[in-house]
Amino acid sequence: MAEGCLFCSIIAGDVSADKVAETDEALAFRDIEPQAPTHVLVVPKVHSPTLTELAESHPDAAVAVLTLARAVAVDEKITDGYRLVCNNGAGAQQTVFHAHVHVLGGRPFTWPPG
Ligand code: AMP
Ligand code: ZN
Repeated sequence: MAEGCLFCSIIAGDVSADKVAETDEALAFRDIEPQAPTHVLVVPKVHSPTLTELAESHPDAAVAVLTLARAVAVDEKITDGYRLVCNNGAGAQQTVFHAHVHVLGGRPFTWPPG
């Protein structure tokens, strides 16, 4: 657990969240500011600032995040077209520096993203 990290606090149960799924290595909960009808964040239980750094330090946890993201998409019935977003760094609008994947679905998407 990293001191002052919001998502570590959610994992520890110190901050409440609308949890939708959980495994030994990852937790999924609804984003507090949803950008689509389904907007779930999937986070590893181990702290790492970004998903790509997590892949280097804890590859099993990175796979667990992606596996749980897929399970969430199945549960939410959005497998015909959903977007996984991973903002890496402040310049890409990352605001919480605990690795996470946004699972977005339930509406049409455009490309390129903004
Ligand atoms: P990012 O900008 O990629 O770092 O994404 C961080 C996300 O966390 C944003 O979409 C926020 O809306 C979301 N968020 C911030 N605080 C909370 C919270 N307490 N519970 C759920 N989601 C949150
Ligand atoms: Zn953390």
